[in-house]
Amino acid sequence: MDFNCTKCGECCKRYFIQILPEDAEKISKFMGIPLEEFISDYTQLFLQFFIGDFKSTGLVIPSAFIPKKFIESINSIVLGTPKELMVLPTIAFKRNDKTCVFLNNLNNCKIYPVRPHQCRIFPFISMNKLESDFLDLYPFCKGLESSDLKKNKNLAEPHFKKTNEYFSKIKKKGFSSQWKTLPKKGLAVLETKILSEINRKEFSEITDLLK
Ligand code: SF4
Ligand code: SF4
Repeated sequence: MDFNCTKCGECCKRYFIQILPEDAEKISKFMGIPLEEFISDYTQLFLQFFIGDFKSTGLVIPSAFIPKKFIESINSIVLGTPKELMVLPTIAFKRNDKTCVFLNNLNNCKIYPVRPHQCRIFPFISMNKLESDFLDLYPFCKGLESSDLKKNKNLAEPHFKKTNEYFSKIKKKGFSSQWKTLPKKGLAVLETKILSEINRKEFSEITDLLK
């Protein structure tokens, strides 16, 4: 990757970093702790809702099956209740004082050698093909100004391929086929807006509907 990161740490402060089971395995080994301990101490449930017109075979649930507290929060953001919602369940790193739990005071990543793929390729984490799109999407990333956008613009493809495979497995075999151990609680969000806290029971009930 030909990219001049200035190590400002902005990207670690702005986003929820969602991980895949293989990331969890790698990071817990690197930290020298059991997977269960890593999941319970460093991660949270992360349920992302999207509103749209889903004719595809995505992870879609009729709104009637979504608990009332989430629907009420969604209604306070958008007008009216959508008929269906696309639901993407994952696990994300916890955050400390609005930054990723792994960012230290010097803006260094404590798990740098095993950081998730999306952290490795940031800011080229978009399927957009125009080089100018990256500058529009991530204006805070000063590294972009002096990097070769042309060389890096396709870096996101393998990431989205892996993520799609993960969601297909959930659709076929259920969330519990991918995650043997779960955090106790986490967040439900509408795209990027936080709706509410979600506990393991609510999360499991919703993800069970996706099979
Ligand atoms: S990728 Fe960009 S935003 Fe993130 S630390 Fe490097 S320069 Fe800062
Ligand atoms: S895992 Fe490391 S690189 Fe990724 S957001 Fe957290 S601190 Fe930043």
